[in-house]
Amino acid sequence: MNKEKRDIRAEKQNRKCRMCGTRQAVIRKYNLLVCRRCFKEIAEKLGFKKFD
Ligand SMILES: [Zn+2]
Repeated sequence: MNKEKRDIRAEKQNRKCRMCGTRQAVIRKYNLLVCRRCFKEIAEKLGFKKFD
């Protein structure tokens, strides 16, 4: 009877880096959902520097 309680972990804070999985310093800007570290990496690839 007591086992009816599902393990519902509220996934409100589902903000984690989709590249490395960390939940620290995740940037949601630009819908990237990556942490600062990975952002730096992909930012260069995406050409964020030359955003004109
Ligand atoms: Zn990351």
